[in-house]
Amino acid sequence: MIQKLFVALTVALAALLAPALARAEVKVVTTVPTLASLAKAIGGSKIKVVSLSLPTQDPHFVDAKPSLALELSQADLLLVVGQGLESGWLPALLTGARNAGIQAGAHGHLDCSGRVRVLDVSQNADRSQGDVHPDGNPHYLFDPRAVGAVAEGIARRLGELDPAEAAFFQARLEKFQSRLGEARAAVEGRLARLRGVPVIGYHKSWPYLADWLGVELVDYVEPKPGIPPTPAHVARLLATARKRNVRAILQESYYPEESSALVAEKSGAALVVLPSGADFEGGQSYFAYLEALTQKLESIRP
Ligand SMILES: [Zn+2]
Repeated sequence: MIQKLFVALTVALAALLAPALARAEVKVVTTVPTLASLAKAIGGSKIKVVSLSLPTQDPHFVDAKPSLALELSQADLLLVVGQGLESGWLPALLTGARNAGIQAGAHGHLDCSGRVRVLDVSQNADRSQGDVHPDGNPHYLFDPRAVGAVAEGIARRLGELDPAEAAFFQARLEKFQSRLGEARAAVEGRLARLRGVPVIGYHKSWPYLADWLGVELVDYVEPKPGIPPTPAHVARLLATARKRNVRAILQESYYPEESSALVAEKSGAALVVLPSGADFEGGQSYFAYLEALTQKLESIRP
């Protein structure tokens, strides 16, 4: 009896202390590592950040491990890319997490695509055909202009969740935006020669990058986002690559390279494997990631 009472008192005490502890440090969970890098850039020492996926993992197909549900159960703020990117794995984790504060619609749930002009909307695609972009293209984090808009949304939401630190987040946001403006202009100068250069993508990951840099995306190795290529499609792609003098095939490291390598070799294009996101766990900042991405793109010969 006394033992039971002690347990009850301990639980009650923990509940009383919990809000105080939560105020000390906002716990942020992100679905992809680039969002984690952005959150850290804004939140600094006032937040704790965990990414549910690594840059080496396809963000459309993350293994919904129980350890990820545990991270979500303790989160104050969940940052998602949205536009269906996580719809194959996040809903099950959110159910398992039993954290009302971060469910879709709650104040601790931020769909970052709400800050962005979404591309590839309403193409009458449908998930039953295996298309993983049925609602619009979720790969906007390859465009620093979208990153700036997302950073602003993160700063605002962090300030709402922790009003005592709102000025701190705002100051860091302003510093981030100023640095982003400089970095963006420098990259645009270095990659200006890629304007109008024809490239092929493996997955439809690059429309935002193309929109930003003026690269011309002529086709994709995947006939539809999420659908692997058939030999007939690869043959058509090779014909296109030769006819259009395609200079590069862009893809992330987690996609198979055989088809891209074949088309590249037979057409004279370069196979360029781009980093899919910031290596947040390895301590890579967003700016270090942008530099790594830029260096890879610089290797393309127009
Ligand atoms: Zn995709």
